[in-house]
Amino acid sequence: MSGRIERLLERLPGLQAEAILVTSLVNLRYLTGFTGSSGLAVIGPDIRLFVTDFRYEEQSAAEVDGGFERVIAPRELFAAAGEHLPESVSRLAFEDTHLTVKQHGRLSELLDDRVGLVAAGETIEALRAIKEPGEIERIRAASQLADEALREVMEQGFVGRTEREVALAMERAMRDRGAQRLSFDTIIAAGPHGALPHAQPRDVAIGAGELVVVDWGAELDGYCSDCTRTLATGEISDEARQVYELVLEAQLASLQAVRAGAGGQEVDGVARQIIAAAGHGEHFGHGLGHGVGLEVHEAPTLSFRAKDTLAVGNIVTVEPGVYLPGQLGVRIEDLVVVTADGPEILTGLSKELTDVA
Ligand code: ZN
Ligand code: ZN
Repeated sequence: MSGRIERLLERLPGLQAEAILVTSLVNLRYLTGFTGSSGLAVIGPDIRLFVTDFRYEEQSAAEVDGGFERVIAPRELFAAAGEHLPESVSRLAFEDTHLTVKQHGRLSELLDDRVGLVAAGETIEALRAIKEPGEIERIRAASQLADEALREVMEQGFVGRTEREVALAMERAMRDRGAQRLSFDTIIAAGPHGALPHAQPRDVAIGAGELVVVDWGAELDGYCSDCTRTLATGEISDEARQVYELVLEAQLASLQAVRAGAGGQEVDGVARQIIAAAGHGEHFGHGLGHGVGLEVHEAPTLSFRAKDTLAVGNIVTVEPGVYLPGQLGVRIEDLVVVTADGPEILTGLSKELTDVA
C-alpha cells in the first residue's frame, strides 16, 4: 500500500489540503487493504488514520496496512476522525463524488471551525486507473477464469435452453472456478433481444439461426473481468454475418489504437468511423470502453465525450457494438492492458464467429 499512499500524498498540495478523508469503500480498500463495509481513513503527511466500528475490530486488525493507526469508533466514525485530526490540518479534502449532502453537513458540524473542507474530486480514482503489476496479474487471472467458464458453457450447446438457464450456467461455472462474485449480472441475449445493450436474461428458449450476445465477468481477489462474445446458433442470415464482420473489423482496428498518449475520444473514433462508414453510426449508441479494476466500470473512459488520455498501466475494455432494433445485436469486447510496447489483450477467446447450436 505504501506506494499508493506516496502517490496520493503527492497530489495533496494540488488540492490545497493537508490531509484527505477517504470514505469510498473501494478507495478505502485500495489504500488500506480493508474489505469490510464500514470504515474511513484520513491520510496526510502527518496522519495515517483508519477508523471502523466494533464489528470490524478483528477483520481490520488482519487486513489494514500496518502503517495506519487503527481506531475503533465508540460512536460515529466521523467524530472519531475529527478527534484524531492533528493541529497541522487546516484544510481537509473529502471525496465529493462519494459523500452525501447529509454526511457533508454532519462532517462540517463535527469539525472545528479551524478545519475547512475541500472537494477532492476523483483523485483516488485517478491513482487506481494506473495498475501495478500485481493488479494486472489479478485481472489477468479473473479474465482467464471467465474465459474458461464460457468454454465450458459453450460445450453444452445453447439451442433449447433459456437465456436464464445459460446465464445461471455461466454463474455456476465462474463460481466453481473460484470467483467470489460476478462483476455484474451476466447478459445472455438472443436474436432481437440482443439489440438491447443491457438486456436481462429471459425465460425464453434460444432458437436456431440466431446471434446470442454473451457479456459476463468474474470477480477474483477483489478484481473484475469483463468480456463480451457474440455467438451463433447454426446458420445465420447474410445480414447478421455482415454486421458481425463489421463489428469485428471495428474492434480489431480500435484495439490497435489503444496505446499510451492516445485520447479516449480518439480511440473511440477509430471504431465509430468504421461503423458509421458502413451506415450503422446510429446503431452504436454507447462508448467504446471503460477502465476495469476493483470496479467493473472505472477510469479511464473511451467514448465520444471522453477527456481521458491513456497511460501505461491502464486496463480498458474495447467493446464496439451494432444494435438493430427488433432484429439483432452484436458486441465484441476484450480487456486490454496499455503497455509501453502497445496493447496487450488479456482475453484469450477466439473472435471468429463461433457456432454454439
Ligand atoms: Zn461487458
Ligand atoms: Zn464492458
